[in-house]
Amino acid sequence: MSAPASPTIAVVGAGGLGGPLVWALTAAGARVVVCDPDVVELSNLQRQVQFATADVGRAKAAALADEAARRGVADRVRAIAARFDATTADAIAGAADVVVDGSDSPATKLLVGDWAIARGRRHVVAGVLRWGGTVFSGAPGAACFRCLFEDEPDDAPSCADAGVVGAACAVIGGLAARAALALARGDAGDAGSILVVEDLRRPWAPRRARFGRRSGCRTCFPQVATDAHPS
Ligand SMILES: [Zn+2]
Repeated sequence: MSAPASPTIAVVGAGGLGGPLVWALTAAGARVVVCDPDVVELSNLQRQVQFATADVGRAKAAALADEAARRGVADRVRAIAARFDATTADAIAGAADVVVDGSDSPATKLLVGDWAIARGRRHVVAGVLRWGGTVFSGAPGAACFRCLFEDEPDDAPSCADAGVVGAACAVIGGLAARAALALARGDAGDAGSILVVEDLRRPWAPRRARFGRRSGCRTCFPQVATDAHPS
C-alpha cells in the first residue's frame, strides 16, 4: 500500500486523548478531522490540557482547532461539533486514510471499529481509565475491536465516575498517535493487536496482545452471524 505524503486522519473525540492525538498528528504533518459533540467543562481541565479556563463552555472540537491555529497548523485541522454515529460517520471520516477513536464512550468505540471494517479503513481505538489504558490497531482482514469486545459492558465505569489521570491521557494519546501514523504509512504489522498500559504508578512497559478473528464476530462475519441468529 502506498502511503499518502500527508495523510488525513479522523480523530473521534477532542478530549483527554483527542488533545495529545491532534498535537502529535499535526506535528507529524498529518491533516486531522476532529469531531466532538461536547463543550469544555471546568472539571475537564485537569486532564484535557489543550484547553484553558477561557475555553469553558465552548465546543471542544472548535476550541482544539483554535489551539492548533495558535501553533501555526490551522490549515491541518478541521473541527466538527458532532458525535460520531451511524448518521455522521461518513461525513466525518469518509475522506480519512485512518480513523482513530479517542472518545470516552464504549458504544462509540465499537461503532468506530464496525464502521472502519465496513468501509475498509485502517483504524485505532484508544481508551484510558484511571492510571492506564489501551490502544487497539485494526485493518481490513485482521481481527477487529468487536472480536475482542463483543458488546459494550453493562457495568463499564465511565471516565467521569472512575477518574482519569492526566499523565495517562498523554501516554495513551501519544501511543495512539504513533499507531495511527504507522497505519497511515501503510505499516499494518500491528493490526489485530492491542497495546496495554496497566498502571503508570508501577514499573511498566506497554504489553502487546495479538489475537485472531473470532468466528462468531458479527462485524468480521456478518453473514454467518445473521444466519446463526435469524431475527
Ligand atoms: Zn471481528
